[in-house]
Amino acid sequence: MLLCSNPRAQYLAHKVEIDAAVARVLEGGRYILGAEVEAFENEFARYIGAASALGVGSGTEALHVALAACGVGPGDEVVTVSHTAVATVAAIELCGARPVFVDIRPDTFTMDVTRLEAALGPRTKAIVPVHLYGHPADIVDIVAIAKRRGLRVVEDCAQAHGASVAGRKVGTFGDVGCFSFYPTKNLGAVGDGGAVTSNNPELANTMRLLREYGWAERYVSSVAGWNSRLDELQAAILRVKLRHLDEDNAARKRVASGYSEGLAGTGLALPKESAGVSAVYHLYVARSLQRDALLDHLKAHGIGALVHYPVPVHMQPAYRQRSPDGALLMETERAAREVVSLPMYPEIGSTDVERVVKAVRDFGLPR
Ligand SMILES: *Cc1c(COP(=O)(O)O)cnc(C)c1O
Repeated sequence: MLLCSNPRAQYLAHKVEIDAAVARVLEGGRYILGAEVEAFENEFARYIGAASALGVGSGTEALHVALAACGVGPGDEVVTVSHTAVATVAAIELCGARPVFVDIRPDTFTMDVTRLEAALGPRTKAIVPVHLYGHPADIVDIVAIAKRRGLRVVEDCAQAHGASVAGRKVGTFGDVGCFSFYPTKNLGAVGDGGAVTSNNPELANTMRLLREYGWAERYVSSVAGWNSRLDELQAAILRVKLRHLDEDNAARKRVASGYSEGLAGTGLALPKESAGVSAVYHLYVARSLQRDALLDHLKAHGIGALVHYPVPVHMQPAYRQRSPDGALLMETERAAREVVSLPMYPEIGSTDVERVVKAVRDFGLPR
């Protein structure tokens, strides 16, 4: 079965360096928030082009820490999208705030800015755009609206490490950029991990306190924080993979071009990059009216295509009660019925790309 994502292939591609990094940490004897985390934070901040980066426990935690540092709490509303990983919404609720959903653009699957202002109200505290599938949201316009309204912007960059708009990387536009290092992400650890980036020293300082019990000095909490730490093992492995991130993203782009050339004219709607944008293809997501039949066909041919995501957050059992505005999310609900993610990871060979292309073409989609 050709997997949709394959973190083991990435380990094998960089095995010698990763094994050495792991041995170094195990021998070193410091396993949480040490020299590896600090070095990784500096290297990641430099890579993203942000003043600072802080390692945290996961991508969910990155959003949780960022929103809490922005002062989001009970009674507040945070505007985001429903077509996303549930973690985006879970983090908002971890702060005690209420998520408010905006519909998406049908072409990039990201927040539809033309509908954003209608979702803002007196309780709105922050906006969380998601750079989904590795394609940046319309972040410049979103930040402009937020500035006018005095709102914070927390970017969900969990699928977009290295993606950029006009040469500037996502994670530097809003007040905070939030990254996940879940193993399948463009930059993936071998366990959980995440990071927040910021150009705002005050927010960075608050986030540093929040991630470890609110400690400014050890054993003395100056604010009420919790534990959201990155460990040394993950940081050491992330340092290795960060050195290869640009080449890995370039490999993803090559796979994407292979699909896009091979599948032109099949009737599948293929992903496109907006003007001025450089996407990093965390996923290669096409859309089809015969999505479910296409998925079955691909599975029967040993191709592990998946759906990201089959049920919008506002329609999931845990969340549907709180979303009376769900009826307005037409494009979100349509996307959930039509999207299909083809196998995408840097180590996929051109023969596998051709195999996927052939299988899709054999399905005989109407033009
Ligand atoms: C993966 C992901 C997250 C959450 O990251 P975890 O590390 O799994 O907590 C948040 N948002 C999006 C869009 C994601 O893809």
